[in-house]
Amino acid sequence: MMLEEPGTPLRAVDMPVPAPGAGQVLIRVHACGICRTDLHIVDGELKEPKLPLVPGHQIVGTVVATGEGAGRYAAGERVGVPWLGSTCNTCRYCLSGRENLCDSARFTGYHINGGFAEYAVADYRFCFPVPAGYPDLQAAPLLCAGLIGYRSLVMAGEAERLGIYGFGAAAHIVVQVARFQGRHVYAFTRPGDIRTQKFARDMGAVWAGNSDELPPEELDAAIIFAPAGELVPAALRAVARGGVVVCGGIHMSDIPSFPYEILWGERVLRSVANLTRRDGEEFMALAPLIPVRTEVKSYPLEAANQALDDLRYGRFNGAAVLVISDPAEQDRLV
Ligand SMILES: [Zn+2]
Ligand SMILES: [Zn+2]
Repeated sequence: MMLEEPGTPLRAVDMPVPAPGAGQVLIRVHACGICRTDLHIVDGELKEPKLPLVPGHQIVGTVVATGEGAGRYAAGERVGVPWLGSTCNTCRYCLSGRENLCDSARFTGYHINGGFAEYAVADYRFCFPVPAGYPDLQAAPLLCAGLIGYRSLVMAGEAERLGIYGFGAAAHIVVQVARFQGRHVYAFTRPGDIRTQKFARDMGAVWAGNSDELPPEELDAAIIFAPAGELVPAALRAVARGGVVVCGGIHMSDIPSFPYEILWGERVLRSVANLTRRDGEEFMALAPLIPVRTEVKSYPLEAANQALDDLRYGRFNGAAVLVISDPAEQDRLV
């Protein structure tokens, strides 16, 4: 499913199976999660996509071939491919374990063709083994929603009372990790979104309400997953002195000006930029221990536009995932 022009629907096209270059693996994609970032790319809110582009950066698949030097993985092994697709490995960010900040970072489904396809190639150094016990469909949301959620949670510090603004794919994973760590989660949704508030409580939030309300207790930290800048002052008002507000998304509408007093008292406002490989390794080890369960709405690959639209309008709980059937199987049917 190809993006040719931002602002237009993806189009189903036939492409040759890509060949893995040096350091790359060729993956037969089984499932690919859909992320709000994909929506930002398709809508043209992120400005530097390669075009034409195969989006998708929560890939779960099986290695079918390896390029020169990509020997860590063997054919038949199941791997996951996240948003961070490659980095320079030589700059001061890369050399200090902060490769997510590398100036030359290349992103899957943005600079590099992603997983809304039957096959994808990926740099083996940025692939993760997928924990056994997770079916492909349930594993896919771990690759971005899970990883970004986990990094955001780490950035929120030791907070016991944790607010989450926007209860979608990332939040429904974070709430499980946070509960496992003994924290209390307060979930904020669009005003009046009763269905999502119920979902948040079902997933373990101690309170769920409207994003324009204050929670019943002051929070120690808040994570904002919704791309709405007006949530920043709302979250700053909800956190106690010394509290942290973490912006977990890659894109957000402009933040309205706000009085200094809501930042005063050593409150901290920060963003989280994608992920490091260490986050991936930590989270993939942690998820099966909890165990994190993902709530998934599946779509066939050809229905990618429908899935993106359903995400845009918040028509499902949890995460949307494209399921990619075996191309050989399809050929036999033809
Ligand atoms: Zn993502
Ligand atoms: Zn670098």
